[in-house]
Amino acid sequence: MYSPRAMAARARRGVQHAWGSVPERLAGVHRRVPDGTVALTFDDGPHPESTTRVLDQLAALGVQATFFCVGLNARSHPEIVRRALAEGHVIGSHSLSHPADDHTSPILLRREYREGRRSIEDVVSADVSLFRPPYGYLSLGTAAVMRERCLSPWLWSVDPGDWQAGVTVDAIVSVAGGADSGDVVLLHDWVEQPWDPAARDRSATIDALPVIVESIRSRGLELTTLPG
Ligand SMILES: [Zn+2]
Repeated sequence: MYSPRAMAARARRGVQHAWGSVPERLAGVHRRVPDGTVALTFDDGPHPESTTRVLDQLAALGVQATFFCVGLNARSHPEIVRRALAEGHVIGSHSLSHPADDHTSPILLRREYREGRRSIEDVVSADVSLFRPPYGYLSLGTAAVMRERCLSPWLWSVDPGDWQAGVTVDAIVSVAGGADSGDVVLLHDWVEQPWDPAARDRSATIDALPVIVESIRSRGLELTTLPG
């Protein structure tokens, strides 16, 4: 669940291990893209309404992004994943059902990561090693699973907190609009298992996108996708 405690911990994970914690190094976690570029990433979808709106907005802006899809959602809406792929976006996996990792046994997590990846691979008919753990959760145990399964885990360097219920366009833009060379921005086209169901309203994220993109481009930076 996106509880306040989990959210605070998650926000810290996004910035805490700038030099790489032991689990981060064990798993081979990435969180930076090449200089001169910025990557927008979207988690938790696909959802038939909000992901479609995000894709429409990105198409209008001429931006390609990276989507970390929840396996069960991809199985329910494979056509949206295929549309994203066809429009040049990159697809990664984000577990099968987005479990609260802190309370999930290593055996179940192994299954979650494996089946989540398999669900996405079935939909896109290709190998998908790109992976983001739910909540960015990283421990020695999960890092070992990521390594064992040859996953390529990506966290982020900028978290505008768009997963919070009631977040405003200005609040998102004030953080994400400042993304600088090499940054990976965490955004959400859906919010799985939110603490407050109002977080499922993705309007602020979608409305913020043109301003974020303009801010990034105005500084000569290019939008890029993660290496899939
Ligand atoms: Zn997530």
